[in-house]
Amino acid sequence: MLAKLAWRLFNRPDCLLAHTLLGKYCHSNSFRSVSCPTSSSHGWRSILTSRDLLVRHLGKAISNGETTKVWGDSWLSTTEHLAICGPPNETDRDLVVADLMLRGSARWNESNVESILPTVAHFIYQIFPSSLNAEDKFCWQRTKSGIYSVRSEYYSMIECTEATTNQIVTNREFNWHKNIWAVETTPKLRLFLWKLAQGALPLGANLQTRGLTTNTNCPHCNAPETAIHLILHCPFAQQVWELAPISPTTKFFNSVSIYQILTMAPALVCLPRTGITTYLFSWIGWNLWTSRATNPRPTNPMPSTTILPASLPLNTAICNSDAAWSRQTLRAGLGWVISHESSSHTLQGTSACGHVSSPLLTEALAIRESLRAAKEALLPKVWMRSDSQVLIRAINSKTYPMELFGVLMDVEFLSSSFDFILFSFVPRAQNSTADSLAKSALDHGSFSPVLN
Ligand SMILES: [Zn+2]
Repeated sequence: MLAKLAWRLFNRPDCLLAHTLLGKYCHSNSFRSVSCPTSSSHGWRSILTSRDLLVRHLGKAISNGETTKVWGDSWLSTTEHLAICGPPNETDRDLVVADLMLRGSARWNESNVESILPTVAHFIYQIFPSSLNAEDKFCWQRTKSGIYSVRSEYYSMIECTEATTNQIVTNREFNWHKNIWAVETTPKLRLFLWKLAQGALPLGANLQTRGLTTNTNCPHCNAPETAIHLILHCPFAQQVWELAPISPTTKFFNSVSIYQILTMAPALVCLPRTGITTYLFSWIGWNLWTSRATNPRPTNPMPSTTILPASLPLNTAICNSDAAWSRQTLRAGLGWVISHESSSHTLQGTSACGHVSSPLLTEALAIRESLRAAKEALLPKVWMRSDSQVLIRAINSKTYPMELFGVLMDVEFLSSSFDFILFSFVPRAQNSTADSLAKSALDHGSFSPVLN
């Protein structure tokens, strides 16, 4: 509870409570660095104790970089507490992150970065700041949304003490007895776990290796369907884990094999204490598996005609964006197509960039680029469509994953310049032009806005 209060003091310094407390106790120092005077009340002392727990995972999500100190804040990652090794030069001590940027351009000033912080330059280039001067924000590094929750703090404390290994567990090292046959669940679910680990479930990827090649993608998101996708990587699975009373740790989420997941699964703790002592992972896994039956793979390709929402105003431009990303090179290709019913012209463009750390960030960059193009073309009404369901949901609910913060703040700013804007998910089959533009941008790394 007090940690929530401390979180509020960091994030809402203009609220009445913050005005009162900070006005009384933080005249000469910021809330972050103020020490506890011997005469202070029990309440304030407790808030400062909570603050000290909080700052272990308190980061800054970068937008314009003006309020984040290069040396004093944790800003290199929104999910890990990465410290910049000091000490700084006398002249660099008070630098803010914006000093490392070409101000107003959302680009890093590479010569400044390389001369001041050469060892962490690759981390810096993976941050995409706002080009529209949105402000930086405090973020809690233990949740995707960056918002502090008591639950996530509890999990992070468990994670500190748990002894589960993060080594890559291979088939040969996997303890079949301990992690499958001896787990506390029903015989049917043990068999399910065994099939999952053996690659014996009729998942898309397994069917493909047996020569069946039609309709093998995930029925939820149309990605290649592997065991680890079913349990962890699918946006549907991620939503389930978010809502489940057991929350996987970061190590669990970073698993690279199904063996690793099954090795860590017994250590997952059920919260709040519901009295469930059985092996909940097996039930959640089973339900992820059976949910596919209620959501079968599409047997026919999606119709290629565009169905307009009933509420769409006249003369709304339809704007599709897509992105392609290479995990090996961290390069991204972005593509967009804008069509307007009153004209036969289609505006399309591509762009390529490097240092992109995730496919979701790639999709967000594609949306930002297509909105910029729509704004430049002076289109007043836009229906923006992307085949990333997760991203569309984030934009519509305004709960921005912290890694996308700067980019999505720009999307929010750009959106406000249109008379009408609607963000929708579009199935991949209806997004093929943007998709091929993105792929060609990734392959050729060209920048070519074209009007045809
Ligand atoms: Zn999926």
